[in-house]
Amino acid sequence: MRSLSFDVVVMGAGTAGAAAARCLAQAGRSVALLDARALDGAGARWVNGVPPWMFDAAGVPRPTPPERRGEGAFVMRGAAGRRGLRLDPSPVWPVDMRHLVARLQADARAAGATTIAPARLLELRFDGHRPRALHAAGPDGPLALEADLFVDASGMGGALRRRVPSLARDCPPVPRAHVCSAAQMVCAVADAAGARAWLQAEGLDEGDTLCRAGVAGGYSISNLTLEGDEVEILTGAIADPALPSGPELVERARAHHRWIGARRFGGAGAIPLRRPYDRLTAPGVALLGNAACQVFSAHGSGIGVGLLAARMLADAVTGAADPGAAATLWRYQVAFQRRVGALLAAYDLFRRATQALDGDDVRRLLEAGLLSEPSYRAGLEQRLPVPDARDLLQTLRGALRAPRLAARMAPTFARLGPAVALYRAHPEAPDARALARWSRRVARLFGERPDLAR
Ligand SMILES: Cc1cc2nc3c(=O)[nH]c(=O)nc-3n(C[C@H](O)[C@H](O)[C@H](O)COP(=O)(O)OP(=O)(O)OC[C@H]3O[C@@H](n4cnc5c(N)ncnc54)[C@H](O)[C@@H]3O)c2cc1C
Repeated sequence: MRSLSFDVVVMGAGTAGAAAARCLAQAGRSVALLDARALDGAGARWVNGVPPWMFDAAGVPRPTPPERRGEGAFVMRGAAGRRGLRLDPSPVWPVDMRHLVARLQADARAAGATTIAPARLLELRFDGHRPRALHAAGPDGPLALEADLFVDASGMGGALRRRVPSLARDCPPVPRAHVCSAAQMVCAVADAAGARAWLQAEGLDEGDTLCRAGVAGGYSISNLTLEGDEVEILTGAIADPALPSGPELVERARAHHRWIGARRFGGAGAIPLRRPYDRLTAPGVALLGNAACQVFSAHGSGIGVGLLAARMLADAVTGAADPGAAATLWRYQVAFQRRVGALLAAYDLFRRATQALDGDDVRRLLEAGLLSEPSYRAGLEQRLPVPDARDLLQTLRGALRAPRLAARMAPTFARLGPAVALYRAHPEAPDARALARWSRRVARLFGERPDLAR
């Protein structure tokens, strides 16, 4: 068995893992970046929407074509009809993840990171409670990789998380009710006249995204974006056997719009929607990206948050003699929960409330104008809204138009501020008991049994 030693081993070379390897290597750490798949098959392989500010905040240059795809407005409507909301330009950029993943991996390599793929994880070797070596079946045979820090960026399954007893205990698998089944497909336009007729019937311009919300329950969408000779289809719904899956919704869209032609590329998968795990680290281990449930759950977006988290992890361990020391990793946990966890938790409360609605409720929510346009824009941009007097007045008018819906949503709106305040008060100093107390308060806010909530 070949033995190699690094400061950091990153498991998973998707956007979050490749971004972490990039930042850590650029900061002078010796890094190994592993993936179970070949590197050109790692991470998301489809088109994702990402707000441009998140690249800036993560220190990743903004994508340019062909990584960045077209531009247009974002038009949101209920499952049927023409009333709704138009945000022009769209606050999110469509980004081809195949290019972004390749760029992050190439940057990591250019900064000195060693990439190893495909590599199958065999076991973790511990010294007491702390992992010290990872054994894997690499492309050229068995490998023993020693490191001070192991980063689990292996996606929702959490390949390392499941093997570290304290994390397996505190970060349980995400229940189906909090998982989104999503699919994204780019297809050729088979009938240009049919496509133009659809644009006209919907009152759209080329490049606009039409988001139909509530097509399969309160938390579901079916989006279409027509650009040149291609159409992007994005779908998602709660992974409930009673509801259609993301791939089924894509096939419905293709069957309904006969002008959509052959598949060019795309993919499907599960997105964890629950708020981030309360605990993101254990001695020698950090969770990152989907493995940490670092997802903006109101629309199941994990790319930008994963990039931010990767930057925060690298910043937290900068200059530390031992990047895997519990006190060092606590800095990552505090920074993330206070700055980003607060946002994710608040929007997760909102996601849970919309999930309980049905398609008609979603249409009413949009048509009554219960939420102002700046609130929708903030939601798509993955920021907290800062409502002014006009927004409040609009919400009030919407509440008068849809009083029962407003009454149902009111308790959730009332918890958003306390959620943000609680996350901003995440314990500053490493203290397991203070974290447990904080976790119990979070669980109460989310109406969960504290022993099941982590
Ligand atoms: C159809 C769809 C549409 C989406 N749309 C959007 C969107 O518009 N905007 C947005 O922001 N987000 C979107 N998301 C979510 C986003 O794609 C994920 O949140 C993001 O890809 C998570 O990145 P990650 O690096 O944490 O994990 P992943 O992308 O899942 O990467 C994990 C990597 O780890 C590897 N791995 C797994 N197990 C092991 C192991 N044992 N050993 C080594 N490697 C392992 C995998 O091969 C993979 O390459 C969408 C998701 C789906 C499925």
